[in-house]
Amino acid sequence: MNTLFWFRRDLRLFNNDALYQAIENGCQHAVFFITEKQWQAHDVADIQLDLLKRRLAFLGELLATKGIKLHLIDAGDYAGCVEKLADFCEENAVKNVYVNNEYELNEVERDRAFVDKADSLGVSFYTYDGDVIAPPGSIKNQSGEMFKVYTPFKNAWLKEYQDTHFYFAEPPKMHDKIEWQESKLLKSDGSSQKWPVDDETLSHVCTRFIDEKLASYQEQRDIPSIKGTSGLSPYLALGIISVHQLLALIQQRHPDILKSAKSNLFCWVNELIWREFYRHLISVYPRLSKYENFNDKYNAVEWRNDDSDFKAWCEGKTGYPLVDAAMRQLVQTGWMHNRLRMVVASFLTKHLLIDWRKGERFFMKHLIDGDLASNNGGWQWAASTGCDAQPYFRIFNPITQSERFDPDGEFIRKYLPELEKIPAKQIHFPHDYLAKQGKSSSYWPAIVDHKAARERALNAFKV
Ligand code: FAD
Repeated sequence: MNTLFWFRRDLRLFNNDALYQAIENGCQHAVFFITEKQWQAHDVADIQLDLLKRRLAFLGELLATKGIKLHLIDAGDYAGCVEKLADFCEENAVKNVYVNNEYELNEVERDRAFVDKADSLGVSFYTYDGDVIAPPGSIKNQSGEMFKVYTPFKNAWLKEYQDTHFYFAEPPKMHDKIEWQESKLLKSDGSSQKWPVDDETLSHVCTRFIDEKLASYQEQRDIPSIKGTSGLSPYLALGIISVHQLLALIQQRHPDILKSAKSNLFCWVNELIWREFYRHLISVYPRLSKYENFNDKYNAVEWRNDDSDFKAWCEGKTGYPLVDAAMRQLVQTGWMHNRLRMVVASFLTKHLLIDWRKGERFFMKHLIDGDLASNNGGWQWAASTGCDAQPYFRIFNPITQSERFDPDGEFIRKYLPELEKIPAKQIHFPHDYLAKQGKSSSYWPAIVDHKAARERALNAFKV
């Protein structure tokens, strides 16, 4: 065995150039390291691990049909991966290891540690950038540095790629021939069952979104009661679907999409470029992986970090229905709508003055699409501490956000059955209405007053 492919967050056979190159070089073996300790240290959500395990079981079978054996190796943590990979290479005379890069600090350091060992083992380490279109560090401003504002980054990205024609390989229809082998290491707890893991279904999910939803995405993407977004984030986070595949699918139908940045269809592509922006940031600024503020002038903010307020936020008991419904969506389903992520993150950091790092961690522990770069980017955007973030004085009003984006209270009613019968007009802040009905105790009192909390946040951030 000379050539080995090391799977990480790139759990796909198709549209995986690093894997194709490994196969060209005779690869018949692949490894994936089970790293329970590392996952715990990184707060990886159980539901994401369940999706990962189900996908690995599928991938193992799929690879076997192509003559590649996937070895699952229990390694504990990243230090264990380096040791076990070195042992595997030595025992099996591996001379070439192929991978897709990961950009977070621990992952970069893990790879460096392996490269240090690889030299003495006579192993070559080949890296690809299959998780992004633009490799981090490749999109620079005129001074040769990373952009600190999104729009010029996007424009430079488009200049680079607008003439590129993206290709992808359609996965063959074979899923019903594949028998999943659930081994001990891949024991599923069933929590991610609602998310399919076979390529054929996923291919339909992508094309259906692009054919049926892309045109209305711009209009519907902010309405949490509608399924107006793709729901592909868990697959992008684990590399089950590649961003190249998505762009190729769009280009098949709209060949000039990357030259029409003002069209409403581009709105979705724009989100994929935000994803790239955050990946570039995490790679260029390793301190982001250490949860430091991007903008260190906000190190002076004194967070209140009140434990009971944090608990109320986590449990969806703040007395602000949109915030509470959103938090219950997260805890119950492992996913939260983007508009709501912005609302609850703003509420935690501004209304409650709780450090964004606590919210970031809670999200990671529950999100099926938990992803350090996007999560860190989203939280620092909402907390105003980030790169091209929301200015500190822009504080979402959770009541008007609710009136605007859930006008009939449809989303709220789904997750707060206690408010099911409240009229749409009152549902966004039902306390006076409930008091008049003598039913105040049927919902949580508001833990802060919006106006007072807003003032408190402005003062804290002004410092
Ligand atoms: P769509 O609207 O269909 O977008 C398509 C894809 O573009 C998404 O799947 C995602 O990969 C990417 N994308 C969309 N919006 C963003 C964005 N604002 N930033 C970066 N990428 C984006 N996304 C994650 O994947 N993992 C996270 O852990 C995560 N944490 C977040 C935390 C906060 C506080 C905020 C405000 C946003 C966070 N996001 C995160 C970004 C965004 O909320 C999700 O990607 C999106 O809701 C996923 O739903 P979707 O797949 O239907 O997205």
